[in-house]
Amino acid sequence: MKTLILFLDAISSTDFNEKNCPFLWNLARNGAYGSTEIIPSCYHTEYSMLSGCLPLKHNTWTWFYLKKNSSFSKIKYILPLLKLLEKLKLKKIARNMADVYINLFRLFSGKTRFLKSYRIPFELIGDFEIAVDKSYVDHNPLPVPTLFDVFREKGIRYAAMDYPTISNNKGTFFYFGKSDFKQLRKVNKLLRKNSVVYAHIWELDAIEHKYGLHSKEALEHIKKLDNRIKEIISSCKEKIRVIIFSDHGGCNVKKTRNILPSIKDYSEKYFIGSTDAQIWLKEPSKKDELKKILKKEGYLIYDEENIGKELKIPYKRDFVGDMMIAVKPEEQLYPDFFRDTGKVASMHGYTEKMPELNGIFIANGFDLKTRKIKDMKLYDIMPTILNAMKIKIPEVCDGKPRVK
Ligand SMILES: [Zn+2]
Repeated sequence: MKTLILFLDAISSTDFNEKNCPFLWNLARNGAYGSTEIIPSCYHTEYSMLSGCLPLKHNTWTWFYLKKNSSFSKIKYILPLLKLLEKLKLKKIARNMADVYINLFRLFSGKTRFLKSYRIPFELIGDFEIAVDKSYVDHNPLPVPTLFDVFREKGIRYAAMDYPTISNNKGTFFYFGKSDFKQLRKVNKLLRKNSVVYAHIWELDAIEHKYGLHSKEALEHIKKLDNRIKEIISSCKEKIRVIIFSDHGGCNVKKTRNILPSIKDYSEKYFIGSTDAQIWLKEPSKKDELKKILKKEGYLIYDEENIGKELKIPYKRDFVGDMMIAVKPEEQLYPDFFRDTGKVASMHGYTEKMPELNGIFIANGFDLKTRKIKDMKLYDIMPTILNAMKIKIPEVCDGKPRVK
């Protein structure tokens, strides 16, 4: 018996139907299916999905946080060179050089979570650090167990893949299969030797950002994935059980907002993402003044007063800032630290909900009584998978099993 678990990034529950993905639709119809509600404003959603715990327990929700002497601070040694390259209009080369440089330091200190520096200004990169040291498919990446930690404890032979790493019962290794179809070919091979195979298939996310939710390009990609998954499952010689889920959908962007003019006089440091921004103030006494301005401009504001209660994120100043602001669905921030251009068709990562932002969850082949899954949250995914596989759920989990 084999179990295949696929994390299909960015499939919205509103794109999940018979026409767009007939094979997956059929799996859902003959198994258990439901849409999933997003975890608010999370860049690191996978850590919550695969641990069944909210950020209050593991604090892994943002990609970058403020840190002195971070692995990124080493960039100061090549900063003059990077600036020279920028001046010579060799921006791309400078950026690649910075990315290789900072990630090599992370690699040599045993870390397995890597990120690019995107468009974080070179003079600011050194102030920040990646929020977590290990990839979530690595062994014991969090203070709480992940799905894969449970598999290892139970002696279940597994392989878990998320670019650029692949992890199994023995350890964590590099795997540079960059396209979805390369990864799915690898899944096919891994299924022969492991009883559980997990993979994060992620190209749709970028396609939706570029062309939009429900776009021709996005729907074509979903159909191709549907076909490829059908081939893998039908060519498997043993009985195979399948779990498929996504982390979010998206919504098409209608409004772009520039937050810089409002915060530049108040902030000592800031980090601007596509839907939220952390602000560290020059003078903490001016906090209420800035809050009032930003509220009036229509931003949502989170700080020590409400972030735990509303977003289930612990208040830590280095991570949240003196305050974190967020835009509403269908809006985006630009300039931000992630893109060269303000042109993006679709976005996700909001603190407020709308149906297009919901993801999907499918379980097939587990002998479940449940058909329609109700009220599922992303942090229910790990407990639900364990329950379907008849494995005991760790007591620490915030999520609940949604199938019987
Ligand atoms: Zn995305």
